[in-house]
Amino acid sequence: MNSNYDVLIIGGGVVGSAVAWQLAKTDLKTAVLEKEEDVSTGTTKANSGIVHAGYDAMPGTLKAKLNVRGNEMIHEIAPVLNFDFVNTGSLVLCFEEENRPGLQALLERGKTNGVPGLRIVEQEELRQMEPEISEDAICALYAPTAGVVDPFNMNVAFAENAADNGTAFFFNEPVTSLERTEDGWLVNGAYRAKILVNAAGVHADEIHNMACEQPIAIRPRRGEYFLFDKEAGSLARHVLFQQPTAAGKGILVTPTAHGNLLAGPTADFIEDKDGVCTTAQGLDHVRRMASKTIDHLPFSQVITSFAGLRAVPEGGDFIIAENAPGFIDAAGIESPGLTSAPAIGEMVAQMIVDRLHPGENRAYVPQRRGFVKVDDLSPAEWNALIAEDPAYGRMVCRCEKVTEGSIRDACRRSVPARSLDGVKRRVRAGMGRCQSGFCSPKTMEIISQELNIPFEDITKSGGRSRLITGRDKEDLQDGE
Ligand SMILES: Cc1cc2nc3c(=O)[nH]c(=O)nc-3n(C[C@H](O)[C@H](O)[C@H](O)COP(=O)(O)OP(=O)(O)OC[C@H]3O[C@@H](n4cnc5c(N)ncnc54)[C@H](O)[C@@H]3O)c2cc1C
Repeated sequence: MNSNYDVLIIGGGVVGSAVAWQLAKTDLKTAVLEKEEDVSTGTTKANSGIVHAGYDAMPGTLKAKLNVRGNEMIHEIAPVLNFDFVNTGSLVLCFEEENRPGLQALLERGKTNGVPGLRIVEQEELRQMEPEISEDAICALYAPTAGVVDPFNMNVAFAENAADNGTAFFFNEPVTSLERTEDGWLVNGAYRAKILVNAAGVHADEIHNMACEQPIAIRPRRGEYFLFDKEAGSLARHVLFQQPTAAGKGILVTPTAHGNLLAGPTADFIEDKDGVCTTAQGLDHVRRMASKTIDHLPFSQVITSFAGLRAVPEGGDFIIAENAPGFIDAAGIESPGLTSAPAIGEMVAQMIVDRLHPGENRAYVPQRRGFVKVDDLSPAEWNALIAEDPAYGRMVCRCEKVTEGSIRDACRRSVPARSLDGVKRRVRAGMGRCQSGFCSPKTMEIISQELNIPFEDITKSGGRSRLITGRDKEDLQDGE
């Protein structure tokens, strides 16, 4: 293997993958090193999935600039890269007359940041827009450009399009050492590159501190959520925020890109950078605060809870700079990092282009094929597809209507699914009401066939997360 690259990107989350996607338009030789078995396994897999409009960040910050630009880019690229984005618009609800000036200040800040279409809506219009919200809401800041995105698929789309256009991805490859060389960097004693990009999420401080003289610190701040069944999905039509506080944007209630309802997140600093467990206190806080927005939320329809970790930097703004020669940080990318990711990709790629002056990738293909969703097909279209490939006629995940054909497709892409979670994040098998109770064995069988690995070796999410310990009950009793 020739391990000499122009650019090595550390981290295959949405930020690292967006940088790879942008660089794939050039003729630079680029690779992504990811410590886990797939892309979208860090913070990108556990967040609110909101495409923020951009009124929240302080004017002049990178957060403000990249949020607004990222929002604009997502509107443009979602149909080209074929990931799910719904332009729902968002509402910041105001419950007390005395807090109205705070709403007005957000509106002014948004205008300064260049957010289009912002306006205050009063109670009557608000109630027409959101019939289910609490009667205590007196007015709201409406942001028509906000929306919801499928964060996994956006991440996968960037990665796949980069790989389709020549980027190499190395998984299960944690970066543990960085050495300066005459013309760049040596990573893990094996990979050479002229430029390194640090997109390691909550671990970006560890990577930065291996390379740079001035250390940085990233603190994980956990956010916990409830995800509701699609039956509850129509309770909210827009992203519903409460007014922000010093602790963050507060508890929101929102439809997801696939029609579920989501409530959360909390905001608690923790020490453990792997601490993605939920807590009774955290979820109780979500329940109480979300009920202020919609007082009859059906908590009996919660299908799962989860938590994600914000990568909080000391200075408050994103850290995007060449902080050692040939070493570019994309660190401290907390919210609105998902929204900003395409713009961060654009900014970091431009920094690299300015330094290395590459040519263009003449074979670059901008489109990425989406996955088949049977609900989007007419009966005639579905029948035609089944005639071409009968696997599209065999339903595996009944909750989300995912066929064997789509699961096989997920395992055959340029950045393929290799685990149950990998399949789930790409085509949603296991994402529904039964949370993979019914479809796991069949999905494992398909992964096993596609990847040509024994059934027993299929994992939930790589590493040691194997799902079965032996062939049958007798094996277990024998302690084998
Ligand atoms: C609770 C919560 C809610 C949020 N809500 C929103 C929202 O609604 N809208 C929004 O815009 N943003 C939101 N965000 C922020 C957004 O999710 C993040 O900014 C974004 O996902 C960060 O992406 P990333 O690629 O930087 O990090 P990650 O997705 O964490 O990716 C980093 C990658 O680096 C890898 N890595 C780490 N160390 C190494 C190493 N040593 N070697 C190799 N690989 C390594 C990791 O495995 C991981 O895959 C939210 C965040 C949280 C936590």
